[in-house]
Amino acid sequence: MAVGVFDLFSIGIGPSSSHTVGPMRAAAVFAEELKSLGKLADAASLRVDLYGSLAATGHGHGTMTAILLGLEGFHPELILPEEVEERLAAIADTGMLQLAGAVPLPYGVKDMVLCPLTILPRHTNGMTFTVSDADGDALHSATFFSVGGGFIVRDGEEDAAQRELEESKKELPLPFRTAAELLEHCRKTSLSISEVMRINEEDSRSEEEIREGLLQIYSVMEGCVQVSLKREGLLPGGLKVRRRAPDWHERLLKEDKDRDPKYWQEWVNLIALAVNEENASGGRVVTAPTNGAAGIIPAVLYYALHFAPGMENATQEDRDDVVVKFLLTAAAIGVLYKEQASISGAEVGCQGEVGSASSMAAAGLAEVMGGTPAQVENAAEIAMEHNLGLTCDPIGGLVQIPCIERNAIAAAKAINAAKMALWGDGSHRVSLDEVIVTMRETGKDMSSKYKETAMGGLAVNVVEC
Ligand code: SF4
Repeated sequence: MAVGVFDLFSIGIGPSSSHTVGPMRAAAVFAEELKSLGKLADAASLRVDLYGSLAATGHGHGTMTAILLGLEGFHPELILPEEVEERLAAIADTGMLQLAGAVPLPYGVKDMVLCPLTILPRHTNGMTFTVSDADGDALHSATFFSVGGGFIVRDGEEDAAQRELEESKKELPLPFRTAAELLEHCRKTSLSISEVMRINEEDSRSEEEIREGLLQIYSVMEGCVQVSLKREGLLPGGLKVRRRAPDWHERLLKEDKDRDPKYWQEWVNLIALAVNEENASGGRVVTAPTNGAAGIIPAVLYYALHFAPGMENATQEDRDDVVVKFLLTAAAIGVLYKEQASISGAEVGCQGEVGSASSMAAAGLAEVMGGTPAQVENAAEIAMEHNLGLTCDPIGGLVQIPCIERNAIAAAKAINAAKMALWGDGSHRVSLDEVIVTMRETGKDMSSKYKETAMGGLAVNVVEC
């Protein structure tokens, strides 16, 4: 399947799409295979090997516990936060895992084999699952890679997956992999970027289903903020990072009773912080396009709905239109990053996560504020150009510092990028494609210390306690 809007925006749990959502999904796929192969009843022992970045920062990212839940058959888009707590407590208390929800096996986090210095050829986020029978003979084994944004690829099937992707793209009414191709469709058809994306999405679902699905995605983003604003105290993980969003919300409610536009920045900061604090505590978030960068799109969308000119008297239908248009445009830009570079911090650093999200959000805002396709492309380009080189160096491997504040800063950059593009006529010197390729090459040259291994930058220069 070609990458679509519901691949780029999916519902999952925090704190990381590549280190929590992807590994849980891979473990769940493995457990289901074991069942469908009819080998579950003979399972007597389990081995999980984690490689590269998953092994180096897995504890801080909740990778190991996510894998336990996946092996029990839970999926990131369906599991409830209370189920997470309940099942993990049961596994810790009994020392037993319910493989595929059916076969009890003695297994826990401490049994996983960590190989942080072993990088498998396909990707740094590798994991191998092996289940054996009572004689120690392997019943089933599989290696997966978590390649960013919750996407997984099975070892040995990369070419087949790539071929399938190329085939499905050929069948789309308006296929594109570069910004130049996207803009050419807009020029030839006189459609906006969000309309091109919608027409491609209609290949797999009706216009109504797309609208309903995107409004549902937005309601999860809003729900995430509401839950976060009620949860005070310290974030988990030992860094003693205090949740700031509840206090900031209270202060804003007192200081900005009349919704004065001069407070737009404070509201945008609040939304970004609320989403990322919820993500850091393992709560329910929308991967947009990753969990570490999940606060940027909701924060900029909040700006579009509350502070963009013309929204003062908007009806509910107008507001829903803005949400749908914004998310479709942002997804079209996300496709370009998936196609030509990467949205994985472990592959290209934080420029691929926060940079891509900022670029997608800038495009979404420019489109709903009436930008032409060229202005929208310019907004996306400006936002990424000024995120180039951004490293991934989370302290303690936790998605907290610098990640939480970084989302607020990147949301502000996205808003500024959209405003700058809208004051131009769409013509500009550096194209979005050029900046995406630059991001990919910069990521390739970046030392692995700065690619989600917690072995460089802030992660080593800041004392943890
Ligand atoms: S530094 Fe950026 S890429 Fe790394 S975990 Fe944080 S948000 Fe993700």
